[in-house]
Amino acid sequence: MNIRVRYAPSPTGNQHIGGIRTALFNYLFARHNGGKFILRLEDTDRARSKDRYVKNLYDTFDWLGFRWDEGPDTGGPFAPYIQSQRSELYKKYADELIAKGAAYYCFCTAERIDAVRKEREAAHSSESGYDRFCRNIPAQEAASRAAAGEAHTIRLKIPLAKDGEADPVTKFFDHSLGNIEWKNADINPDPVLLKSDGFPTYHLANVVDDHLMEISHVMRAQEWLPSTPIHVIMYRAFGWEHPEYCHLPMVMGLDGKKLSKRHGSTSIDEFRSSGYLPEALLNYVAMVGNSYEEGSRVNTHAEIYTLDELSQYFSMEKLNKAPAIFDYKKLQWYNGQYIRMKSDDELASLSLPYAINQGLFGGIGAEPDAAQKKLYTQAIPLVKERADFLKEIPEKLNYLFAEPPLPPKEEFFPKKFDCAATVELLKKGLQLINILAPASNDAEAEELTKAFAEKEGLKLGDLMMPLRVAITGARVSPPLFGSLRLLGKEKSLARTQKALDYLA
Ligand code: GLU
Repeated sequence: MNIRVRYAPSPTGNQHIGGIRTALFNYLFARHNGGKFILRLEDTDRARSKDRYVKNLYDTFDWLGFRWDEGPDTGGPFAPYIQSQRSELYKKYADELIAKGAAYYCFCTAERIDAVRKEREAAHSSESGYDRFCRNIPAQEAASRAAAGEAHTIRLKIPLAKDGEADPVTKFFDHSLGNIEWKNADINPDPVLLKSDGFPTYHLANVVDDHLMEISHVMRAQEWLPSTPIHVIMYRAFGWEHPEYCHLPMVMGLDGKKLSKRHGSTSIDEFRSSGYLPEALLNYVAMVGNSYEEGSRVNTHAEIYTLDELSQYFSMEKLNKAPAIFDYKKLQWYNGQYIRMKSDDELASLSLPYAINQGLFGGIGAEPDAAQKKLYTQAIPLVKERADFLKEIPEKLNYLFAEPPLPPKEEFFPKKFDCAATVELLKKGLQLINILAPASNDAEAEELTKAFAEKEGLKLGDLMMPLRVAITGARVSPPLFGSLRLLGKEKSLARTQKALDYLA
């Protein structure tokens, strides 16, 4: 079988976690099987589809760094891949279903449908959806009313029990959920396939395109499951084989509620601007609600995989059936791991835009001069082990580019030291800076500092604490030796002297 899968978003909003997860799983499945991954834009909702969301989709996937084999921009044998450019096509298929007796013309106005809904509400009726008012208009009569130009939609005739028969059930297999049996009586009553403006609905366009584009497997979010019996009924009415299905478990927050803004960022733009790396986001998203088998080892958590490895190990059968939990802490862990895997140069250039935005080089938006750029790159090793987000890198390095404000005096005091005793420590600090000036690496600096502390009868921590605050402005900071080296002797002495004057 030729494996062909698709991501079929409606451009009615920005790309979010759930969407890219669907896209990613389809991509991994295609790669795993040597198949094709297709992008199709389902923009049949003309009012809600917007160009800016299409642009957001392309930007998102450019950033994420994985692509489709066929799609609106790439082209392919089944072009066009945008439903609004295929609208001519769908009517013919709706007509075909009418001819087969599997669909019917509906002349109900929006007002009538609304009135039925209100009546039911008033009567506290449990019934919902269309009341099948036009279902039994004789076919010929309906056809001539439609031909005469009476406004109409085309609806699917969901097969129902005839007198004395058992209620029909629509059955299909789902690779994640197993055998599904859906009572036809519980399916959305006779959904519209073709709207009165001649545009198809999601159901019609989706089924026709999946068929024409020879889609072998439909992998999509579980919220689409109620649509699947409708689609299966349509495929059978056309006499087509339906694709295999795999409905992906929902993505939840830690509280077990559907992932939403309340939990944190969900739109990919937000992840991007808060300094996530695309590799980390993809790796984590691939792990959400899924496990990967690598030889005899099954990994479910906290494993670092490249896209290639993920596609090697991906299997629909390994998808968890239970809802998937999206844990921002875990994602943060992944991001930190990927930050640490980058070279210093890569991290410098990836985080530079954040540095510029934060005003690290003299004002919001100011570009670094050559010296600042060099210092910035040299400083990366100081923070690489400590940053989980790109934006934290410049945040943590501020003190190298601008003198930090003096914190409250007590911040300088090591445990059991008062102000006067701390002043004495800082005087030793001045000496230490001179001693360390020739040291070219941390090991040498540490050696020299230990020897000095011993000679002075001081604990290493006591000696370094006030010096650290003088140099970096805080008790918790990137490593002191590296900071002294990058700042240079003159600036280090000046900051320490300033702190001394302040305390004395
Ligand atoms: N257009 C639907 C969406 O927005 C596609 C659902 C499907 O994959 O069939 O997600």
